[in-house]
Amino acid sequence: MRSLTLSEARERSGLITVTSYAVELDLDRGPEVFGSRTTVRFTCRQPGADSWIDLKARDVTSAVLGGEPLEVGTPVDGRLALPGLREDNELVVEATMAYSRDGQGLHRATDPADGEDYVYGHLFLDAAPSVYACFDQPDLKAPYDVTVRVPESWSVIGNGAATQDGPGQWSLATTRPLATYFVTVCAGPYVSVRAEHDGIPLGVHARASLRGPLERHAPEILDTTRRSFDYFHDLFGIRYPFGEYHQVFVPEFNAGAMENPGCVTVRDQYLFRGAATRDELLGRANTVSHELSHMWFGDLVTMRWWDDLWLNESFAEYMSHRCLVDATGYTDAWVDGTIARKVWGYAAERSPSTHPVAGVAALDAQSALQNFDGISYAKGSAALRQLIAYVGDAAFVAGVRAYLADTAYGNGTLAEFLAAIEKASGTDLEAWSQAWLLTAGRDTLSVDLDTDPGRDDWGPGGDAPGAATRPPAVVRSATVVREAPRDFPADRPHAVDVAAWTGGVERARARVTVTGPATPLPALAGVPVPALVLPNASDLTWARVRLSAETVALLPEQLPLVPDPQARAVVWAALLDGVSTAEVSPDAFVGVVTAAWPRETNSSILTRVAAYAEHRVIPFFVPRAEQPAVRGRLATTARSLLESAAAGSTESLAAARLLAGTSDDEALLRDWAAGRGLPAGLEDDGDFRWIVVRNLATRGLIDAEGIEGYRDQDDTLQGSLNALLCRAGIPRPEAKEWAWEQLTGRHGRSNYEMNHLARGFWAAPYDELMQPWVERFFTDVPAMAGWVGEDALSRVVALAFPQVFTEDTARRSREALARSDLTPAVRRSLVDADWELQEALQSRHRFHPVS
Ligand SMILES: [Zn+2]
Repeated sequence: MRSLTLSEARERSGLITVTSYAVELDLDRGPEVFGSRTTVRFTCRQPGADSWIDLKARDVTSAVLGGEPLEVGTPVDGRLALPGLREDNELVVEATMAYSRDGQGLHRATDPADGEDYVYGHLFLDAAPSVYACFDQPDLKAPYDVTVRVPESWSVIGNGAATQDGPGQWSLATTRPLATYFVTVCAGPYVSVRAEHDGIPLGVHARASLRGPLERHAPEILDTTRRSFDYFHDLFGIRYPFGEYHQVFVPEFNAGAMENPGCVTVRDQYLFRGAATRDELLGRANTVSHELSHMWFGDLVTMRWWDDLWLNESFAEYMSHRCLVDATGYTDAWVDGTIARKVWGYAAERSPSTHPVAGVAALDAQSALQNFDGISYAKGSAALRQLIAYVGDAAFVAGVRAYLADTAYGNGTLAEFLAAIEKASGTDLEAWSQAWLLTAGRDTLSVDLDTDPGRDDWGPGGDAPGAATRPPAVVRSATVVREAPRDFPADRPHAVDVAAWTGGVERARARVTVTGPATPLPALAGVPVPALVLPNASDLTWARVRLSAETVALLPEQLPLVPDPQARAVVWAALLDGVSTAEVSPDAFVGVVTAAWPRETNSSILTRVAAYAEHRVIPFFVPRAEQPAVRGRLATTARSLLESAAAGSTESLAAARLLAGTSDDEALLRDWAAGRGLPAGLEDDGDFRWIVVRNLATRGLIDAEGIEGYRDQDDTLQGSLNALLCRAGIPRPEAKEWAWEQLTGRHGRSNYEMNHLARGFWAAPYDELMQPWVERFFTDVPAMAGWVGEDALSRVVALAFPQVFTEDTARRSREALARSDLTPAVRRSLVDADWELQEALQSRHRFHPVS
C-alpha cells in the first residue's frame, strides 16, 4: 500500500480545508466485516482541481460527490480519486471494511472467558482509512459526528460523549477538531466504573471478564487521573477541552496506550489480575499521566507532519515523570525512568539505526514510524531536561504555555516550539538544538582522579587492620572527561552532577556543566579517595557512563551501600551498557546481581534488573552450555531474598517470580504449579503460575497436553496466550515445528498470539535443536508482510529473530539485510536485531572464546 508523502500532504492541505465529518459505523454485521458510511464536507481553494480521499475498504459500495455518483471500482493504493472539485463539496462514501487482528485499524477480539467480542479503533499512524474515508494527514483536522450500530448487548465509547438512542443504536457528541488518527470507537459488552472530577466526567472500562480487576484498580487509576488533571491545568493554563475523559482497557493492544482525545485506549494487562509490584503500579500511573499530558501536547496541538512526532512523545515522556514526582506518591518516577526507559533508549542509540531526536526527514508517513523508538521517548525527554537546565524552568513553562495557546486546535512544528522557548527565555537555541536535537549519538562521561602519590590506594584498604597507620589517600584533582562519539561529533553541553561514595557515605557531590573534553571538579579536591565516583549521578543527562574495571570489581561490595536509588539506577544502566559493549563480562554482571540485588530496596531496580539478567544477559551473552549454572546462581539469590523478604511485599514478589523462572528444583516447581506451598499473596495468581509452567515446559518436564490442562483451569485471554508461550518453549523438534507453523502460517493468529509464540520459541537446551529455524526465520517471517500490518510485524521480527548466536546466523542476517524486497518496518527491526546479535557475538568472543 502506497504511503502518503510529505509533498502530497502539503499539496492537499494547500488545496483542501475539511469542514466536518459524519461517520456511521455498523458493527452488527458479524465477526469479519463492518459497514462504514462517511459524509465529509470540505472546501477547495482551486475549483476544478482534482484530489483524492484515502480509503482502505474491502468493498466500496458507492461514492457520491456533490450529488454525482463516482466510478468506484477498487481504489488503487487505498486512494479514491475526486475529480473536478467545487468550492464547497460534500462527499458520501459507503463501504464494507474488514476488522483487524493485528491491533491496527478496528481490532476485534473474542474473550475466551465468556465468548464475548470486543472492538476498538487504533488508527495511529495511517489506519484511519481502514475504518472511514478520510483525508488522512495530521494537519487536516475537523470536528466529527459519529453514530454506531452494535448488537443490543453492547455499549459504545468514543471521542465524544456517548448517548444510546435506541436498542443497539448509539451516537457520540460532536467533537472538537481532531486529526484523523485520533478518532476511535470502542464497542462491546464493556463494563465501566464512572466518576467525575472538576466538572469532567470520567470513565474506566474493560472486558466483562475483567470486572474484578477493574473495580479493584479503578480507584488508583482515577486518583492518578485527577492529580494529573489538576497538575496539567495548573502548568499549562488551558482547560481540558475534549469533554468527557474515558480510559478503555482493551485486549491485544500493540503499544502501552493511545492518546485519543476523550477516549484513551490502554493495554488491558495494566489491570493486573494477580499481585502487582510497586513499579508495575508506577508504570501504569506513568502511562495514565503520559496520555493525559498528550491531550494538550499532541491532541489540542498536533504536529504538522509526522517528522515532529518525536516532540509529542518526548514531551509526554518528560511531563508524566514530572507530574508523578510533583503530584503523586510516585516520587521515584525518575529512577524508573532510568532503569526502564533509558536502558531502552540507550540500546536504540547503540544500534546502527540510531538517528537524531528531531529533524529526520520523514518523506512519507510509514517512514516516520521507523524512528518512533527509545530515541523519540527517552532521549527526547532527557534533551528536554537539559533544555530546562539551559533556559530555566520558568522560561520553559512560559514558552510551552505560549506555544499551546498560539497553536490550539491546529498544528505546530519544532521551529515554532523552539521559537516560543527562545522568546520566553531570551536565549538563542540554535547551537543547543543543533547539538542535542539534530545530531545523533551520545557522549561518554567518566571521571579521572589524580590522587596524591605515595599514599595508599582508595579507601577500604585504608580502613583494614594494619592500614590505619597510613594516612588515607586523597584526591588531588578530579576531571569529568567527555568523549563525543566519532560518528556523531557535537558540542553537547551537559548539566550533570557528580557524586562520590565510600562504604555508602557520600564523600562529595558537585553540580557542573560539562562542556569541552575535560571539565574540572574542584569539589572533589582534598577528599579521601572514594570507592565509587559516578558522573551523572542524578541522571539529568543523556550520556554513557563509563565505569573503570576497578570500580566494577568493587560494586558487589559498594553498590548496595549507596543510599541514593537514582545513583544505583545509573550504575545498573552503565553496567548493562558495559555488558552490551563487551566491556563488562556477563559473569561480572551476575556477580553484582547476586551481591547487590537481594539488598535492593527500589522496586523498579529490583524488577527490571531481575528481568534483564534472566531474559537478556543470560540468553544473549552466556553460551547455552553455561546457562543452567548461571540461572542456578540467580535462583539461589532469589531464594534467599524470598526467605528474608516480608510476606506479600514487592521484594517477596520479585524474588518469587525470579525463582519461578530460573529454578531447576522440579519438586518446588510442581508444587507451585499445583498451588501447593505458594508464597503469600500468590495464591490463585494465574499469571504467576504461568511463569512456573513456562519453566517446566522449557525444561521438557511438561508436554502440550499438560499445558492445555493448565489453560483449561485459566480459560481466559491471558491463559490462552500463556499456553502458546509455553508450548513454543517445549524443547522438542515436533513442538518447535508446531509453534513455527502457527506463527508463520496463515492461521488468522492475532498480534498477541504471534508475539507469545515468538517469545517462547528460542528457549532450548542446545543450539543444534534450533538450527533448522535459523534459516527459515529469514524467509518465513519477512513473508508475513503479506498479511500482517507493519507495526505488528516489526514486533514479531524482534521477538522471533534467531537466538542462535553464531557466525552462521550473522552471515544469514547480513544476506537478508542485503535483500531489496523487505518492507521498511521489517528492515528496521532486522537491523536492530542484527545489531543485538553482533553485540552478543562480540561479548562471547571476548569472555567465552572457546564457544
Ligand atoms: Zn505518547
